[in-house]
Amino acid sequence: MRGAVLYGPRDVRFEERESPKIVEPTDAIIRPSATCVCGSDLWDYRGINPVAEPTPMGHEYCGIVEEVGGEVRNIKPGQFVIGSFFASDNTCPHCRAGFQSSCQHRESVRGAQAELLRVPLADGTLVTTLDRPSAELLPSLLSLSDVMGTGWFAAVCANVQPGMTVAVVGDGAVGLLGVLSAARMGAERIIAMSRHEPRQQLARTFGATDIVTERGEEAVARTKDMTHGVGADATLECVGTSEAMTQALRSTRPGGFVGYVGVPHGVNIAGEELFYSHVGLRGGPAPVRRFLPGLIDQVCNGDIDPGKVFDLTLPLDRVAEGYRAMDERRAIKALLCP
Ligand SMILES: [Zn+2]
Ligand SMILES: [Zn+2]
Repeated sequence: MRGAVLYGPRDVRFEERESPKIVEPTDAIIRPSATCVCGSDLWDYRGINPVAEPTPMGHEYCGIVEEVGGEVRNIKPGQFVIGSFFASDNTCPHCRAGFQSSCQHRESVRGAQAELLRVPLADGTLVTTLDRPSAELLPSLLSLSDVMGTGWFAAVCANVQPGMTVAVVGDGAVGLLGVLSAARMGAERIIAMSRHEPRQQLARTFGATDIVTERGEEAVARTKDMTHGVGADATLECVGTSEAMTQALRSTRPGGFVGYVGVPHGVNIAGEELFYSHVGLRGGPAPVRRFLPGLIDQVCNGDIDPGKVFDLTLPLDRVAEGYRAMDERRAIKALLCP
């Protein structure tokens, strides 16, 4: 089978690889119907996270089960499934508490930008849809594998409630879907931070009521102005830089929460500032598995269309073009179809 392999900075190749096999009796092999490039793949692609050896890429997937191991009970060949970037047993204490991305037996799922994929702990990790979905639903269902679940988690962590004013830092796919999540949770006002016209438009489509184009301290001042000096009730930090985290903290009112889901790169939080801010911080790698059943229902009922974040569709063998387009910010998110 063929799949995407990262050799070094900006060097993604689509090449013949060994087909994945059942290793543990709890594994499944799936054939992705759609996969994509993630903003977090760009940290590796740009060489910010150095890669020591040629590395199979991709962690967002949905598709058809090809084969299951001898101990898999609930997942069957031929079913359409969606899973998260962390495999989880869904039975340990952390999973039962809804934090499957901290599962005591968690494993990373890697190598999804390929014709076949091994998913460990299949019964705990994979969620099936009732029917095999139509092609139109594929992008939205795929987004649940990471970005939509992550945006949703950011809004949950920020304690978004009906009537609130919510600020969203970051206009990547996760930030845009954080806007959609906040809107679904009943936020009255949603301030999206973006200086890119197409992303501003999509943010408005998803429910943003205001756009802030400033950054850093100017963005904080602008948000305060818009809220009569109070600040946002809830803020979603969807970038992972120190500037974004500081901006999120300072944009939030005393008593408010910041939900942070950007993978931190050099984030430092001053203890004294946090102490006197009265702002609550919560986040981390999203327990996407917790949200999959509910979000699948919302997509299948036509309540949400998070697949709109894919503004570039390519055949899987042109995966390198998808990385390039996202690296140069010509695309928000690249969908790959076999
Ligand atoms: Zn991802
Ligand atoms: Zn677990």
